[in-house]
Order: sequence, then structure tokens, then C-alpha cells
Amino acid sequence: MIIVTRPGTTPEQIQRIRDRVAALGIQTNLSVGTTRAVIGCIGDVGKLADLPLLAMAGVESTLPVGRPYKLASLAFAAKATEVSVGGPGGPVVGGAELAVIAGPCSVEGPDMLRRTADHVRGRGARLLRGGAFKPRTSPYAFQGLGDEGLELLAAVRAETGMPVVTEVMDPRDVGHVADHADVLQIGARNMQNYPLLREVGEARTPVLLKRGLSATIKELLLAAEYVLSRGNPDVILCERGIRTFATATRNTFDVGAVPVLKSETHLPVIVDPSHAAGVARYVAPLAFAGIAAGADGFIVEVHPEPAEALSDGNQALTFDAFEDLMDGVAAFASAAGRTLPPAVSAKA
Ligand code: PEP
Ligand code: MN
Repeated sequence: MIIVTRPGTTPEQIQRIRDRVAALGIQTNLSVGTTRAVIGCIGDVGKLADLPLLAMAGVESTLPVGRPYKLASLAFAAKATEVSVGGPGGPVVGGAELAVIAGPCSVEGPDMLRRTADHVRGRGARLLRGGAFKPRTSPYAFQGLGDEGLELLAAVRAETGMPVVTEVMDPRDVGHVADHADVLQIGARNMQNYPLLREVGEARTPVLLKRGLSATIKELLLAAEYVLSRGNPDVILCERGIRTFATATRNTFDVGAVPVLKSETHLPVIVDPSHAAGVARYVAPLAFAGIAAGADGFIVEVHPEPAEALSDGNQALTFDAFEDLMDGVAAFASAAGRTLPPAVSAKA
């Protein structure tokens, strides 16, 4: 942190500022120019967050130099984090192989879930997504099957061997959801739900943390820091589009977030082109862009009959469209130095 003083600040005022900083155990280094002085702060500058520096006489501005997130920061990690999902032999998010996560927006029943899982697995998806607890904008919209949805996910996991990603919305449900799923999704609307972040931080199940609708990259990384600081090291970040003035897509896919996150953090980064696009035909190009930009994988919504879907049908890929996506992404994966998961036969 650097503190810049106003022109005309007296030596006594400068000393008072330095004393307040020093009282927190932080060293200061003074450099006096012709009109302004610059006070460099050295040490555990995180403690300065609660010091109202701008309210002190003589302070013109402050300039953070370090990062407010420590555990999430690339500077603090020896190597990129690889998140292993579903136990030994399970998929790894953040390795050479792209993570391909696919499935319906919501678990609607056993038949559609099984059919979708079989299909996406046959075309190379290694993780199954499906919401049981749905964060719907309207309280009158389908809210998910809840516990019944969790049971169905666990059953299809047992049948297919695919680890399951599902959302948890309530801190009280974390243990229960973790009993049925392999990755706990924190949805965009809950990215700054701090009690929930703390609770999944206590769990020993990997977390898929989606970027909030209007969250900056710094806020996303600080949300990850909440989880990491509670002892859960397995956080996967997800760019899913942000809210802007543009209306042609549901959200604006911030593809720039991918390389920025990759240079800021050791955590794996995936993209969700489905919620960014909002329309099925834009999903594949956005997935390609995300992979080309360096993402570690993608999560997409697939439905046997999008026109009948109970949530997010407009953006759901048909089985054929998912096949086209997997065919098309191969070139982008290899250009990005990644491999794709091998397709497996439809039934194990
Ligand atoms: C979802 O994955 O279905 C979902 C609700 O996503 P988001 O939180 O990104 O809107
Ligand atoms: Mn959805």
C-alpha cells in the first residue's frame, strides 16, 4: 500500500499518519517530493483495510500494491491447483485434459436424467451436472425437485460412474448435498453469500464457484478466498457471463476473465457458455472462445427435449448439438495444448 499526501501537508500530519500505520505493526518508508509526500507501507498491509486512511488529515489517495487475496493468489502457490473429483481415477479439473461437465439445468425426473447422462458420457463428458435446488429469479418458477433430485443424481452417479455437480443454496444443506454430490456448485446469485461460502469451506467436497452477475474478478477471487481460508483447497472458478447493457445474449461472456484469472490465481478456471449465451445456438462458439482463451474446461446444459425443459430450455443443447460441440471443440482444445476426455461407449 502506498499513501500519497496532499500538497501542503505538514510534517506533523505526515508523522501522525505514519504513527497510525506503525501502531498496526506495519513499517513505513517516507519519500518527500516538492509538493507531495509518498508513504510506502511494508508488512502485513491487509490490516490497513480497516484504517480510514482517506479520513486522515493530509491523505490525498491510497494505492494498493499487493493483492487482497492471499490463498487464491498465484504468487502464493508453488503450482497450479488440480482438483480431483469423485475419488481415485475420477476426473481432474485443471490438468491437461479439459473438464467437460454436461447435463440438464434441472433434474426433472429419472428418465430425462438417465438419458442425458448416457448421452453426454458417450460423447466425452466426464461429469454430470443437474440442479436439485434451483435459484430461480421468480418465486413462481420451478424451484427444482429438492431432495428427490439429489437422490436421482446419486442413483445416476452409481449407474454411470459419472461424478455429479449440483448447486447448494442454503448453508444448512451443505452436508446433505455433499452426501449426494461430488462438486458443490455455488451459483452466481450466491457468490457473495458469505455464510454459505464459509460452510462449503468447512466441507471436504470440491466447490464450483460461479462469478456473480455483477461481480468483478477481484470479488470472485475474494469469494474463493472465503472458501480456501476455511480449509477447503478445492475451488474451481467459473466465468458464466456478467450483466452489461448488451441484451442480445442473456449475459455478456467475459472471455477476458479467463486469461486474467489464469494470471492471478492458481485455481482452475472453467467457462459456462450456456448461462452466458442464454440461447442454444451461441453456446458452442462461446465454449470455443473460452477454451481458446485458456479455460480448463466448460459446463454446458443439455436436455433431451429443450422445448419441454422446466428451466433454461432456450439455452439447452439437444443431444445432436452437444455432439457438434464436442466435435467442434477438438481443434480449439488441441490449439490450446489440451486433450479432450475420450468418448466412452454408451453403456458401461
Ligand atoms: C445453473 O447452473 O443452472 C445456474 C443457475 O447458474 P448461474 O448461477 O450461473 O445462473
Ligand atoms: Mn440453468
